[in-house]
Amino acid sequence: MNKSFLVKPFLDEDYPIAEYGKGIYLYDSEGKEYIDGSSGAVTASIGHGVLEIAEVMKKQGEKVSFVYRSQFTSTPAEKLAWKLKDWAPGDVNWSFFVNSGSEATETALKVAIQYWQEKGRPTKTKILSRWMSYHGITLGALSMSGHEVRRARFVPLLEDFPTIDPPYCYRCPFDQSYPECQLKCANELERAIYRIGADNIAAFIAEPIIGASGAAVVPPDGYYEKIREICDRHEILFIADEVMTGIGRCGKPFAIDYWSVVPDIIAIGKGLSAGYTPLAATMISEKVMEPIRSGSKLIMSGHTYSANPQSTAVGLAVLEYMEKHMLVEQSEKKGNYLINQLTQLQKKYPIIGDVRGKGLLTGVEFVSNIFNKLPFSEEVNVTNAVVKKSMEKGLLVYPASAGLEGMRGDAIIVAPPLTIKKEEIDKLVSIFENVIKEIQDELQ
Ligand code: PLP
Repeated sequence: MNKSFLVKPFLDEDYPIAEYGKGIYLYDSEGKEYIDGSSGAVTASIGHGVLEIAEVMKKQGEKVSFVYRSQFTSTPAEKLAWKLKDWAPGDVNWSFFVNSGSEATETALKVAIQYWQEKGRPTKTKILSRWMSYHGITLGALSMSGHEVRRARFVPLLEDFPTIDPPYCYRCPFDQSYPECQLKCANELERAIYRIGADNIAAFIAEPIIGASGAAVVPPDGYYEKIREICDRHEILFIADEVMTGIGRCGKPFAIDYWSVVPDIIAIGKGLSAGYTPLAATMISEKVMEPIRSGSKLIMSGHTYSANPQSTAVGLAVLEYMEKHMLVEQSEKKGNYLINQLTQLQKKYPIIGDVRGKGLLTGVEFVSNIFNKLPFSEEVNVTNAVVKKSMEKGLLVYPASAGLEGMRGDAIIVAPPLTIKKEEIDKLVSIFENVIKEIQDELQ
């Protein structure tokens, strides 16, 4: 293609043209094959080109694609809300459909503030979050995100929401080790609450497993139990941002299920429609809905395309497909195998400092020295080198970051479709090994 007026992420880079996809594979217009080792942006959970989903899209399109949510409800939207109620933990029964993860977390922010207003506590408006987090690109969502690069240009426009340090054991912000640390990272929440005042805080938001800004960082055991307990004691809502981790990606319906903690609000997206259509949701507990239902009876948010029949029909079909093929269970099993294979590479290649994750959300962090965990310099940009070389060799991996304040880190996410087969994992890991070997040789 010669001249293009499409705004792409990097304006002077050439991107291949996606022609079609089948299973874990994507093909470009030149016929080159790629293993989708990251499900795009951790989205295409059931793989590409699933005909059942295409069939549902066609059928729903023939019936009705769009109705405005203030005028109609629809059978697919109602059914999907019921299905999600069965997937979600505890009393998180209600779904507010939106179109992107950013809208889902931003709606969560608004619902949390509204909850306290309905309860006669209008000063509770701040959202506490963690540094090393990503909750979305719109200004409210970005205000909650501890992601230096994505915030930088807009800092003057962002709400001044406070952050605490992440539960990042590989580079503990407190220079301690688990379990001797006694979960200092969780106790930090309570210290922040004392500093800011519980009367000013509506909610604490966290990704159960840190995704884009940490590359599948799993907190130590007991962390979320403690977070839940602190939130309850200080009357602060707990929002789980499961946009990347939810809907089976990590080997449980929701990643928070690993810790038997029930959030007050859950944001989901990505895997909900597995990329077949834009769809996300803010899931709300009975506890949070109750004062709204008996109070103003209206959640002050929403979008033109919220709960449209076309997207919700796709979401419903995706969840039914996942149930039929037991993809949540598959994710846990295959994820264990993938992590094991990546850990074997870590033993062979010292540029791999850490391998982590749960289910089929795995992260690989690169270091220039495994003993002192020193990251590579910005000029070397190992993340970029790994992503580019992988792509050359027909493997897609997702660039993440893994830095604390004032320190950049290199990491990538490997998160193939949950439908991946064992021999396909072997093929993925074999290409990845070639990439790592070549890059390590180049760096020496
Ligand atoms: N929350 C998390 C945890 C995410 O990983 C992302 C996207 O990567 C978002 C929110 C924003 O989602 P979207 O890009 O669909 O707006």
